[in-house]
Amino acid sequence: MNKIYNFSAGPAVLPEPVLKQAAEAVMNYNGHGISILEMSHRSIPIVEMVAETRQLVCDALNVPDNYKILFLQGGASLQFSMIPMNILKKDETADYTDTGAWAAKVIKEAQRYGNVNVVCSSKDTIYNYIPKEFDQSDTQRYLHITSNNTIYGTQWHEFPKANGYLVADMSSDIFSRPVDVNKFGVIYAGAQKNIGPAGVTLVIIREDLIGRAERDLPSMLDFAIHADKDSMFNTPPVFAIYVVNRTLHWLKELGGVKAMHELNIFKAKLLYDEIERNPMFKSPIEEEDRSLMNVPFVFADGGDEQHFLDYCVERGLCTLKGHRSVGGFRASIYNAMPKEGVEALVSAMRQYQNQ
Ligand SMILES: *Cc1c(COP(=O)(O)O)cnc(C)c1O
Repeated sequence: MNKIYNFSAGPAVLPEPVLKQAAEAVMNYNGHGISILEMSHRSIPIVEMVAETRQLVCDALNVPDNYKILFLQGGASLQFSMIPMNILKKDETADYTDTGAWAAKVIKEAQRYGNVNVVCSSKDTIYNYIPKEFDQSDTQRYLHITSNNTIYGTQWHEFPKANGYLVADMSSDIFSRPVDVNKFGVIYAGAQKNIGPAGVTLVIIREDLIGRAERDLPSMLDFAIHADKDSMFNTPPVFAIYVVNRTLHWLKELGGVKAMHELNIFKAKLLYDEIERNPMFKSPIEEEDRSLMNVPFVFADGGDEQHFLDYCVERGLCTLKGHRSVGGFRASIYNAMPKEGVEALVSAMRQYQNQ
């Protein structure tokens, strides 16, 4: 059988050695004789594993001492609400950038909690670029960005300078490149794009933003409570955190985010070069803003999309259908997509052209 390459946008491909370790842990966790799924989150091996995962996050992104690393639930989507609920007071203003479908959802949620100023939008051109010139509020608390727009395939290659500080949804490009955490008040990411299974959400938050809420928050939505309890206020998603742990070990062995970034640039270039070269295909995205993680492309002169998708599936190249809102094709080539997978896709595109 052909090797299967999964180009899904999320939940997405994970490194094969990580999947093997996860499978083993389900049967017998580290020789303890029972499954990780059966172990108390208060048991020493699990408390140690969660602490180690925090340290791995810290090492991978050089997280400074004045930040807390939290493992929460509710997905990136809950952070859309939880962040303004905790750090934006009713009479304060936050600036938001509208660069895609997720960014638009973030804005909608934030509007419930304070003054939300949408400082730019690329919606008019179906989000095919990242706006560069825009004014920010003088009294801004923070500027929210979606660092990588999973659906449309754009990415902030350079982060804007915020009047206050940046808050970023990095769900689909966290650990894909180095970032200077100091520029950010909060970084958050649902795990299922680049680091693990759905069920755990990584939050990296500057300490002075914790405990700032003026609202009477439910305990589960209060950063202060989760920070105080080291993400063990209630039962955390232990297995999901374990998979993140193994993914971060894998990343470290490959040389960390810097080496990963180089590999991601290499993989994306292979694919974008073929899209440019091959007269059958084109990219709808402005060249300078193209994502290294999600690569949408369409037929240059129309054609039977299902036919190409079937052609790819026969070659083990799966989940290449574009998002329902944009059509065409989308190859998500996250950290765990091996370069061989991208090469196989490029070769299928060539052969499709030649036949
Ligand atoms: C997938 C995705 C989300 C939604 O994440 P959930 O964990 O399902 O809430 C949010 N933002 C971006 C950029 C995404 O790619």
